[in-house]
Amino acid sequence: MRILVSNDDGYRAEGIVHLAAALSGHGSTTVFAPDRNRSGASNSLTLDMPLRVFEAGPSTYFVSGGTPTDCVHLALSGYFDFEFDLVCSGINDGANLGDDTLYSGTVAAAIEGRFLGLPTVAFSLCVEPGSGRHFDAAARVARELVGRLLEQPLERGFTLNVNIPDLPYEQIRGIVATRLGNRHRSEPAIAITDPRGRNMYWIGPAGEGQDAGEGTDFHAISQGYVSVTPLQIDLTRHSALATVSQWLEPLAR
Ligand code: MN
Repeated sequence: MRILVSNDDGYRAEGIVHLAAALSGHGSTTVFAPDRNRSGASNSLTLDMPLRVFEAGPSTYFVSGGTPTDCVHLALSGYFDFEFDLVCSGINDGANLGDDTLYSGTVAAAIEGRFLGLPTVAFSLCVEPGSGRHFDAAARVARELVGRLLEQPLERGFTLNVNIPDLPYEQIRGIVATRLGNRHRSEPAIAITDPRGRNMYWIGPAGEGQDAGEGTDFHAISQGYVSVTPLQIDLTRHSALATVSQWLEPLAR
């Protein structure tokens, strides 16, 4: 069992170190990750320049300037002369709930593993200010979940988005399958001034959960449960196909 471990927080981040160590009991792990924090990189590929890969230690590689998607893409299609059996990403330093999944580099790295046609897993720890940073507990959950995957593989070709409440292991209440909720509009951009008096802006923080009712990932986390959402790539709004088709009729030729 060869497990590729990536993330979007960079190859030295607390979460990836914990994840690689926790999964090493299931097989040989290879860390292949960005050289620095690329949170929010989504599914971006670097197409305007070549990428350099450096070996940082035993089975640990970083890609200079690479995005999470670059890393997984390279590792699965060209860098190694062997194939991986599973891709795991994280453990992200922060939640990836609801709409976060569209922006997340952690989720993107897992999704890039779709080349494998195997279940791929993104892990995120729902760190809040002062919540304790229980990466050890999250890593234990990750080890159990991957163990379950190996014991009973799921249908091929999707990504599990796993969020773990930032609690000591004993206080985690359980693990549940969820759907993605969504967030309120994000906070406004924050204007700051550079030393020469010119305006600059910080993108504002994400909004609170809006669709956070029972069954959602937000709800599970708020109740102290690990949330596991199966993701698919198809963004088609199937329920709107007939409406849009009808709406286009006046333009038909
Ligand atoms: Mn991150």
